[in-house]
This record gives sequence, C-alpha cells and structure tokens, in this order.
Amino acid sequence: MKILVINCGSSSLKFQLIDSESEQVICKGLCERIGIDGSRIVYTPEGKNKITVETPMPDHNKAIELVIEALTNKENGVVSLDEIGAVGHRIVHGGEKFTKSVVINDEVIKAIEDVSDLAPLHNPANLIGIKACQKAMPGVPMVAVFDTAFHQTMPENAYLYGLHYSYYEKYGIRRYGFHGTSHSYVSKRAAEILGKDIKDLKLIVCHLGNGASVSAVKGGKCIDTSMGLTPLEGLIMGTRTGDIDPSVVEFIMKKENLSVAEVNNILNKKSGVFGLSNELSSDFRDLEDGYLNGNEGAKRAVDTFAYRVVKYIGAYTAAMGGVDAICFTAGVGENSGFTRKIIIDGLGFIGASLNEEANTVRGKEEIISNPDSKVTLMVVPTNEELAIARDTYALCK
Ligand code: ADP
Repeated sequence: MKILVINCGSSSLKFQLIDSESEQVICKGLCERIGIDGSRIVYTPEGKNKITVETPMPDHNKAIELVIEALTNKENGVVSLDEIGAVGHRIVHGGEKFTKSVVINDEVIKAIEDVSDLAPLHNPANLIGIKACQKAMPGVPMVAVFDTAFHQTMPENAYLYGLHYSYYEKYGIRRYGFHGTSHSYVSKRAAEILGKDIKDLKLIVCHLGNGASVSAVKGGKCIDTSMGLTPLEGLIMGTRTGDIDPSVVEFIMKKENLSVAEVNNILNKKSGVFGLSNELSSDFRDLEDGYLNGNEGAKRAVDTFAYRVVKYIGAYTAAMGGVDAICFTAGVGENSGFTRKIIIDGLGFIGASLNEEANTVRGKEEIISNPDSKVTLMVVPTNEELAIARDTYALCK
C-alpha cells in the first residue's frame, strides 16, 4: 500500500509518499508560504532531480491539490490517485485523550479541536490539513499520529507541575511532552540495534534538532520527558529558552514594556542558542564554526546547551535507577560529533567513554562508545515519517 504522510503547519506542508512494504520513500516534498506571496512546491520523486514549481497557494486546499498533482502528473508523477491507500497525519497535541494513533473520524476531529487551545499554533493547522485531504481524497482512510501519545505513559509525579491541582483538573495544565513519534521510533530501533528486548532496557533518547527534547524510556515506556505543556520547556533549543524561572517573564515585560505576545515571541523565537550567541545563529553548523574560530558567543551558547543536556541525562538516570544506552538523534544529534563530544565529556559520572573515531559519524546508525564504556552511546537517526506510515498502515491494511 502507498501511504501519504502529511505534516501540516500554518504556512507549510511537508509530505512523503511511502511504500508500506518496501518502506521506501517514493516521493517527498514541501509546500512553502501557503497563503503568502511567493508560494512554491518543491518535491523530489524517487531517482529524479528536485522539482520546484512557483505557483499561488492561497490556502491548504490548493496546497493539497498541488501535492496530488505532483504525485500523479504524467511527466514526473509516481502513482495514480487510486493507488494512495491511506493518509497519515502528524498531529502535534493529543492532550490526554490520545495514547496511540487512531483512524480519523468526526469524533476524532472534534477531540483534536477540543485540545487546540493547548497547541494554538499547531493543532488548527493540522486540522486544516486533514480537512483538505478529506476533500481531495474522499473515502481514503486517514490516521492521526500524535506527538504527545508516546509520553502518555508518564506517571503522575513526572507530569504534574507544582501548581494548584485545580488547574490540572480544570484546564489540563500538566506536562505532555512532544517529539513522541521520534522518541518512540528511536528507542525501539536502539533496542533492535543492541539485540535486546526493549522491556529489559533503560534508554535515554536525546532528540537534538532545532526543537530539542530528552526522554527517559524504561522497559519501552516513556517515564519522563523534558518538554511540558508546550514545546517551550526543557532543553535550550535553537531559538527557545527551555526551562526558565517563570518570574523572568514578568521581569522582562516590565523592564521593556512588552505585551504578552511580544514576550512570548522573545521566549520562542529570539532565545535559545540564537539569543545566547548574541544572534550569531540558531544553526549548530554556524555555532560550531564560531566555536572553533574563538567566537565567545558561540562557545557560550553551545556549552550552555550541552550542560543542560547533561543535567537532564543525570536526572533521567536517577529517575530510571540507571541507564543502559544514550541515543542521539535529529539534526544536531545525528550530525554534530562536535556537540555530542561536549555533552559526553560531561558524562564521566556514569562511566561513559566516547570512541572519538566512531563519533565522526554523520546521519547513520553507529555505536559511538568504547567497548569498556559503562553505558552504550549511540547515534540513531530518527524517521518520524516512516513511523507515521507504519502506524497508518497498521490501522488501515
Ligand atoms: P527541526 O526538525 O527541529 O527543525 P532538525 O532535526 O532538522 O530540526 O535539526 C535542524 C538542526 O540540525 C539545524 O538547525 C542545525 O543546527 C543542525 N544540523 C544539521 N546538520 C548539521 C551538521 N552537519 N552539523 C551540525 N549541526 C547540524
């Protein structure tokens, strides 16, 4: 079966067409600047060069139409419309309602709408993607795969904030966690690579990309993760603060005379390694270059980022009563041996020993610890689209 995987944002839409049997990507692409001037679709059919079509895309319905046209057109198309057996949608927030992927029906749509105020930027965009696909492909089954679902196994003591309990009861204010599809995929893959039953393993997954989070996976179940009610909590990220004292918000607002929206923008878009480096960059490639060339801001940003990762690894080792393997994934985790080394240099206390030669690896599965290391260190590239396609196939075959 051919599965179309859709990751719909407010002005962008990423897609992949995946063959469920071979698990090969048949075509992948991106619609950019939906609803904005200068919109375009960029896609790469398997074995062909990248194709870019600049064309107006006033809304997501048009974007989906263009995706289907890209997949089916005579010249570069890879399938006919009736070959697309199911669509898998990445949904950011499933609240407490969704602990696993589900086939989309009216009730599911309503439930996703109901938790939209927990992810006001993401869930409405995800819903637009679902509705646009329903219109363009009536009768094709669709599946919702939630970023929060994998973390729903967290115990109460990990997901509650130290707030009055009534806020949890009234509004569902608690820690949910994100990147769940990635944490789930990487932890399962790590167990396969290690040749062990995941039930017997204590794993820490470090998803270090532009957005970044760590999770503690004990016996295959997530018992804690660093993101919270929203993806702002936890690690220092590309442009997000991660953990800060909430009083900082009021302090900055008063000093700089800012509105809630303005301070939110600062916390989400102007902070993290971008802010710490005095706006040098949010991209670790630039920061790595800066660090090696003696740029103080770059050093400050990367060292502070790495220290926070080490603290979380320490905390999660304590939470699980030990750790068997630490997995690095996503853009930075998979590609930056430089940043991995700075993190791992802080892990002597658990007997982690880095194999520096193996650590030069980029973007492929590799064990990067020495044989005598007390904890296995590994690079496990994530594949959220494949994980979504697998769930979709399992529910629609
Ligand atoms: P997201 O999906 O959260 O946008 P990714 O997982 O794609 O992010 O990670 C993007 C980040 O990965 C980039 O901002 C960049 O900092 C980092 N990155 C990608 N390639 C490299 C590399 N070769 N070396 C260092 N960092 C890299």
